[in-house]
Amino acid sequence: MTTNRPVALVTGASSGIGKAAAFALVDAGFEVVGTSRRASGDRREGVTFLDLDVASDTSVTSLVDRVIEKFGRIDVLVNNAGIGSAGAGEERSLSQDQQLFDVNVFGLIRMTRAVLPHMRAQGSGRIINISSVLGFVPAPYMAAYAASKHAVEGYSESMDHEVRQHGVRVLLVEPAVTRTAFEANSPKPATPLPVYEQQRQVFERVMAAAMKDGDDPATVAKAIVAAATDPKPKLRYP
Ligand code: NDP
Repeated sequence: MTTNRPVALVTGASSGIGKAAAFALVDAGFEVVGTSRRASGDRREGVTFLDLDVASDTSVTSLVDRVIEKFGRIDVLVNNAGIGSAGAGEERSLSQDQQLFDVNVFGLIRMTRAVLPHMRAQGSGRIINISSVLGFVPAPYMAAYAASKHAVEGYSESMDHEVRQHGVRVLLVEPAVTRTAFEANSPKPATPLPVYEQQRQVFERVMAAAMKDGDDPATVAKAIVAAATDPKPKLRYP
């Protein structure tokens, strides 16, 4: 199946920002492939849902092969899949931090590496990486998450310089707190050390309040559509 519309591939489209972005991109005229590990409950004309685990090399390569086979091109890649995980840096296990980086950083790098050859061959494309305000400010009790988003910032800006010569741009969207299931979907901290218990309770109250007053996912989806369609794209979208 080919399409006359530009093709956008969105990771983490089963909920939150990714789902809102997939639907907003359809409204903006894109053929959209929405991907995640869980199937999305919502079906929408113009969005093809496919399975993807960004932490798996084979899942990533076979997904990109399928999209190219089906649509022949990928004009926009939205690297949105991500997990959070709070807890004092000292008490988190190394494997928790590694798992977080495997999704938030290496997942995004796997996708970029798989899609770039096609965009280079096309002579055009945009890779839109969902970072966070925590990509440029520190976050006590979320150190590994903040580190993962700082890594996304450095990777994106460096790659943007590297691939511009091929007609490809790598752009950043940096959401503030957004009302999604992000916190609920995030792995819970390990057994707390007593010394941190009081700070943790304060932190959890602050996070719960911030989530309640946070932006709507549709607001972030608008920034993603702008990054995908602006004739002269900016490197960063708020
Ligand atoms: P959600 O938890 O609602 O969505 C996360 C999405 O990522 C889900 O669709 C999930 O699908 C997918 N995902 C998680 N792990 C994997 C994986 N291994 N492979 C493929 N897909 C995966 O959270 P948000 O919508 O809030 O988060 C989206 C992005 O926005 C993240 O990168 C997050 O860091 C960023 N962000 C969020 C903010 C917020 O306040 N909510 C603020 C700033 C940035 P499934 O489980 O089905 O695989």
